[in-house]
Amino acid sequence: MEYFVDVALAIPLEKLFTYSISKEEADFIKPGMRIAVPFGKKKIYTAIAIQVHTNPPTAYEAKSIELILDETPLINTIQLEHWQWLANYYMCTFGEVVKAALPKAFLLESETIIMPNSEIAVNESELTDNEFLIYEALENQNSLSIQDIIQITDRKQVLPIVNSLLAKNVIQVHERIYEEYKPKMIRHVKFSSLYASDEALQDFLDELSRAPKQREAVLHLFQLQAGKGNAIKVSELVQKSGCSSAIIKSLIDKNVFEELQIRTDRVVFNQINFKSREFELSAHQLQAFNTIKEGFKANKPVLLYGVTSSGKTEVYFELIAEAINRGEQVLYLLPEIALTSQLINRLQEHFGEKVAVYHSKYSVNERVEVWNNVLHQKQKAQITIGARSSLFLPFSNLGLLIVDEEHESSFKQFDPAPRYHARDAALVLAKLHKAQCLLGSATPSIESYKNAKDGKYHLAKMTERFGNVLMPKIELIDIKEATRKKKMKGHFSELLLEHMWNALNEKEQLILFQNRRGFAPVVECTTCGHSERCPNCDVSLTYHQYKKQLRCHYCGYHELLGVSCKACGNNTLETQGFGTEQIEQELQNLFPEAKTGRMDLDTTRSKYGYQKIIKAFENHEIDILVGTQMITKGLDFRNVGMVGIMNADTLLNFPDYRAHEKSYQLLTQVAGRAGRTEKQGKVFIQTYNPFHKILQQVSTNSFEEMFNEQLYEREQFLYPPKVRILKITLKSKDYNRLNEGAIWLAKSLRTVFGSWVLGPEPPVVSRIKRDYLNNIIIKIPAGNSVSKAKKSIKKVQNSFDAIGVFKNIRLVYNVDHI
Ligand code: ADP
Ligand code: ZN
Repeated sequence: MEYFVDVALAIPLEKLFTYSISKEEADFIKPGMRIAVPFGKKKIYTAIAIQVHTNPPTAYEAKSIELILDETPLINTIQLEHWQWLANYYMCTFGEVVKAALPKAFLLESETIIMPNSEIAVNESELTDNEFLIYEALENQNSLSIQDIIQITDRKQVLPIVNSLLAKNVIQVHERIYEEYKPKMIRHVKFSSLYASDEALQDFLDELSRAPKQREAVLHLFQLQAGKGNAIKVSELVQKSGCSSAIIKSLIDKNVFEELQIRTDRVVFNQINFKSREFELSAHQLQAFNTIKEGFKANKPVLLYGVTSSGKTEVYFELIAEAINRGEQVLYLLPEIALTSQLINRLQEHFGEKVAVYHSKYSVNERVEVWNNVLHQKQKAQITIGARSSLFLPFSNLGLLIVDEEHESSFKQFDPAPRYHARDAALVLAKLHKAQCLLGSATPSIESYKNAKDGKYHLAKMTERFGNVLMPKIELIDIKEATRKKKMKGHFSELLLEHMWNALNEKEQLILFQNRRGFAPVVECTTCGHSERCPNCDVSLTYHQYKKQLRCHYCGYHELLGVSCKACGNNTLETQGFGTEQIEQELQNLFPEAKTGRMDLDTTRSKYGYQKIIKAFENHEIDILVGTQMITKGLDFRNVGMVGIMNADTLLNFPDYRAHEKSYQLLTQVAGRAGRTEKQGKVFIQTYNPFHKILQQVSTNSFEEMFNEQLYEREQFLYPPKVRILKITLKSKDYNRLNEGAIWLAKSLRTVFGSWVLGPEPPVVSRIKRDYLNNIIIKIPAGNSVSKAKKSIKKVQNSFDAIGVFKNIRLVYNVDHI
């Protein structure tokens, strides 16, 4: 009988591929193991085994696999099921999910290896100088990579040399597979067995009386080993004993010490100040806690709606403690992990080394370690805190899944596929694990709050801040009026400045929110109105004063700002609008005594960028912190008395059906950073439009009213949750073809979905990275079958793909587009 295995490759292809295997291999291979397979021309890819069977493929001859890479599955069946759901629901391929899910180091690549051809006697005189160099190197080394050859010959173009050596039969070429992950090995020493007994050691010490350094090293190792009972890091011994590593090496050579290489995790947290939980939940918290557990008992997801600083995090901690006491794994999901060093510290204080962190700023190797720790259900990864990609980890015993800040739209992955919403994917994952799932927010999304009201979720509420701290007092400042009366200094109203003075005098810290980074969004010529645009994208360039650059926020393009207008040549360039950088500069003039800091994408790019700024603010090295959205994210600063919002209108006027909901959430979250201790915090919102209903609702903390109004509008104008939105983006470098294709596609879709199809309509930014874009939106009314709709769409796509002239148009699906 013949055996086959179906595998998924981490490339965007729809189908699984079938390879032939032996009986032994068939017995050994389990779904979720990695297998290296030949694919395409001589390339080796890593694939995931999905199924072993005995049916030969009909369309092609099955090739043999190259090798089995795992002893046991790296991916479990729940993961496979979850990934399949993601691929189906978000209309992408399984391979795209695999690619997003696995740390890169698990996906082997192949590398070309050059070896000598031992079967032939080489005539050295026939070789050129460079060829001879390689031939000679191969005599000593037996195999070389292309990289090696580049080094040996000191030239970049080595393929001609390789080809010529091949033609002369001097070498053979192989594809070698290598794994990228390298365990971190650390040098340790312990006493060799000869000196294991105290007497032997004593005798030896006597002998050493004239070698004081060696004696010192021996004594220190003895002391350290007595304390820890096993091998000691060489670096530690060097540091503690003050002996050089040469001394230690001499002791190893003498066979006194034995050297060991010990595999060590890269991700270690030093100095955890482990605190036992010294406080108890308040009455409000306890009530919410019990309500949450009722929901779990009824096997429902729970939404915890607790105002800012109500103590949600402490409630999570109590639930986490229970779950780990039951021996279960916990996943704590956050929209942006980099912003949460404070929370990670709090978690580690409570749960010590049981906490693992997983996010994209970690190196590949660090991610592999967390993956393996979760896979093997290690204690030190019992609680994982991470951004959306942590949903892909190999949990086998997940008991509790917390989605904090569930309203955050950054939970939705935009590019590349899978374009999934982490909150929704988390709900599905929890279901597969039969785990408890808790969504938490101070400003729940309209969708989740509706689900709670409809009874799909259980609802727990905390409407007061912890410790009777008052909600901040929010005041609106009319800058239209202030401008008319000439009561503005730069972008600050006199009223705002006055309150800032007062707060600074009281030694309070301040946060200023401005929803734009950079110095000024655009530089415009006052003579001809020209402003520089990105050559690759359909947007104006943003001015960054620090580097005197104009930059594109979509593709990273940048150029230096010239003195004169490129269109008319006049020296009349002026900045329009304003960003964080400009606010910071104005502050330095207005408050020369105060220390200012800035937190936005530009100042936080490095791995520990956020931490540094947060630490500096915590330590009161900064009086006034200016920031974008980033400062809204769950930060808990003790001494912030006042928050100022420079301009609320840009948020409200954003062309998006969610703009009002998002404005409410953002403003409430920023306001929530103020006055988290006894003294009531103050919040000032500058606006041209103080009677805007959202601003009124924010200032009176009227979440229910906002919810009801927004829900009503969404139902009237057919937006989620009344309908599901599926967006199809067409991309092409050819503008005319793109439009033709979009019109064709929309028309065909209308034959199925009628007036539920909108567009095609180019997006606000209609060209990105040299691609022109056009969008078609399909609305699927709640209650209609989404999977049926998707099937019809795929059918239409098949016809579209069959049309030759549309060949260069790519289609991108975004399900539940937000
Ligand atoms: P939220 O997550 O709702 O914004 P936090 O959990 O951060 O609120 O709580 C706000 C502050 O109150 C934190 O500094 C926290 O340490 C403190 N706090 C919350 N619950 C308790 C409690 N039961 N006992 C003592 N302090 C608490
Ligand atoms: Zn660009």
